Amino acid sequence: MTGPEVPDAVRRVLPDVRKDLDALIRIPSVSADPAAAGEVERSAEATAALFRVEGAEVEILRVEGGRPGVLARFPAPEGQPTALLYAHHDVQPTGDPALWTSPPFEPTERGERLYGRGSADDKAGIAMHLAVIRAYAGRPPVGVTVFVEGEEEIGSPTLSAFLAAHRDKLAADVIVLADSANFDVGVPALTTTLRGLADCEVEVRVLDHGVHSGVYGGAVPDALTALCRLLATLHDDEGNVAIKGLVTAPAPEVDYPEERFRQEAGILDGVQLLGTGSVAERVWAKPSASVLAIDAPRVADASNTLIPVARAKVSVRLAPGDDANRALTALAEHLRSHAPWGVQVEVREGDAGQPYAATAEGPAYTAAREAFGEAWGRESVDMGIGGTIPFIAEFAAAFPDAAILVTGAGDPDSRAHGADESLHLGEFERACVAEALLLSKLAADH
Ligand SMILES: [Zn+2]
Repeated sequence: MTGPEVPDAVRRVLPDVRKDLDALIRIPSVSADPAAAGEVERSAEATAALFRVEGAEVEILRVEGGRPGVLARFPAPEGQPTALLYAHHDVQPTGDPALWTSPPFEPTERGERLYGRGSADDKAGIAMHLAVIRAYAGRPPVGVTVFVEGEEEIGSPTLSAFLAAHRDKLAADVIVLADSANFDVGVPALTTTLRGLADCEVEVRVLDHGVHSGVYGGAVPDALTALCRLLATLHDDEGNVAIKGLVTAPAPEVDYPEERFRQEAGILDGVQLLGTGSVAERVWAKPSASVLAIDAPRVADASNTLIPVARAKVSVRLAPGDDANRALTALAEHLRSHAPWGVQVEVREGDAGQPYAATAEGPAYTAAREAFGEAWGRESVDMGIGGTIPFIAEFAAAFPDAAILVTGAGDPDSRAHGADESLHLGEFERACVAEALLLSKLAADH
């Protein structure tokens, strides 16, 4: 099969792929829930069965303490490269089921969208890879290794051990990580940058016990006010992050209209955006600092007492090009050195996740941009993600010579991780066509 026949071949297999996607969505494979361990096993087996039928050599693999990952291999035709196609079969918890319009594990089509937990993140990724394999009748034009992880939603705790243990089986020339989203419905994108993460807990101590706010107030600071003043130093007056030494990446070229951003975020009337620069620059290329939680008495339990101790969790997102460990040290140093009134400060360093920036050029990127352009009928854009996907940096570290493409079938309204998660079925079709075209271009290039 050559280029022009590929889109029709994909469209022919999509009705059956859709049934298989529905069946996968019905399995509540919530990796964060120990009680759902059996369901995570069941989703691994269901995924394995889908690729076994297509003629792959299939294994369910795990390392000590890890969840089951599925590996399906279609050997490379003589002289052709190999592509590793990644997705994950575990899903996020549903949250309050009452917030869902239809039950989360009952795939339901409304309008152009398919609703259900995992419909976009990331059972759509599995279905994309399956559609491509089926379109080529189990004989793709390049070698294909499908790798479907089972613990992405809990931070891929054993992924680096998995990559080390099964390195030879996973080795590929091109790695396609189908777990991201396009820029908008109708606008294809390659995700070329991700922000990193550094977080910590900061505790402020003022007194060895709580004291009467009338007798001592006015001279003795309370820990909550001191903590608030400390937290307020994380930003300058314009809302830019004020922690010294954090990196800012070059501004992205994409125009992310402020109105669209405000609507997607659900920001209330009159609330200003933080910081300076374009929206895309602020959320993809500059650091951000947020206070995620504070331990303090509840308002309902308040008494006229000066609070002796207060604690907060602070999270910083890092620009591509920064180093997470260095940034974590800078954050801790900032908090230790900016406390008001000589209060005691203790910082407990938390997680550090590296940011990522793809080279975003070379034959695989050229092939992907052509494939996306043909599937969508318009040029693809390079976009960033403000969030952190640690597993991408792990693949980049494990396979430094491979070209890494971050793709996906999601869109800004997919609500991955939220209630009413959904997949836009038109975008799903175009994403499948694009991935199939990509493989034929990788073969033709060779
Ligand atoms: Zn995902």
